[in-house]
Amino acid sequence: MRLLLALLLLASPVLAAKKPKIRFVADPAKAVEMARTRGKLIFLTVVVDNDSENRAVVERVFKDAALQKVLREFICLYANPHDDHGKVRVRLKNGKKVMRCADAITIDCFAHRRCAQQYARAFFDGEVKTPYHLVLDADEEVVARIFNGDPETGYDHVPAGQIVARLQKLLRKHGRGLTRAEYKTITEAQTNLKAARARKNIAAQLRALQSIVAIGKKVPAIEEARARLKEIEVDAGKALQAADRERQAHKWEAALAAYAKVEQDFPGTLAAGRAQKELKSLGKRPEVKKLMKAKAALEKGLEWVRRGKPELARKKFEAALLHGAGTRYAELAQAEIARLGG
Ligand SMILES: [Zn+2]
Repeated sequence: MRLLLALLLLASPVLAAKKPKIRFVADPAKAVEMARTRGKLIFLTVVVDNDSENRAVVERVFKDAALQKVLREFICLYANPHDDHGKVRVRLKNGKKVMRCADAITIDCFAHRRCAQQYARAFFDGEVKTPYHLVLDADEEVVARIFNGDPETGYDHVPAGQIVARLQKLLRKHGRGLTRAEYKTITEAQTNLKAARARKNIAAQLRALQSIVAIGKKVPAIEEARARLKEIEVDAGKALQAADRERQAHKWEAALAAYAKVEQDFPGTLAAGRAQKELKSLGKRPEVKKLMKAKAALEKGLEWVRRGKPELARKKFEAALLHGAGTRYAELAQAEIARLGG
């Protein structure tokens, strides 16, 4: 018998590390922590035995695509005191194969038994006889009770669509929390703080953090994103001050480059807004206009060189020399004229 079971297990299909339809969390304490840090509600499903109305929750409700979709916005827990309903072998991302619960492939049966015995029980006044769902907040207060039916119609009678509608209403009331990707962005921003600063290329991270802060909820992860944004604003402010110093020293070329870099590196910050204004007003200064003319003339001259028109090139380089007197552009133009000879 034992050998037969072993053979059956060997023959059972191995599920690849594909995306689970509902991502149940194994540990209730972890679920509460996730709800708190990510600003989400907990969806706790309680299945009490293996009769048909209880199995209907797993076999019909859990398989509803609309429910699976709305549950992405919740932290999901599954309480079921039994473990005789089937197991599947699942291959994890790291290649390891583990046995998981056939009802909920992100957890094993030990996890949902423990959830039923130690955790879910705390939320019931008396003995639980019917399958149902609870929505809890991060303080573990019951926000909603959703029965999976009633004595008249049967407990397997609530269509998944009705549960989905209830959950969507709750989402509208409580606001959505952070997605997995958003949460990952924040934690990476925190752990890679030093690396990100050294790289100085944080424009993409900045945009992600701005969208997270725009969610506007008061939860730790979003507060962290806000704090990280403030740090970046400080860095942006320092870069802006460096650009200001170049402008004050009338180093126009360096100032233009420095302001442009602030705009490019720190999109959407106050500093980037200031840099944009400075670039505009610098562009109106006669010195800067001349500088830009010199730059354009130099570039045009180089183009004529490439196209084999040395006389036209020479004229452009002379113009660069004239407009850019005392700048790098004049030096470059002078060198090009020397190279052309004559
Ligand atoms: Zn199980």
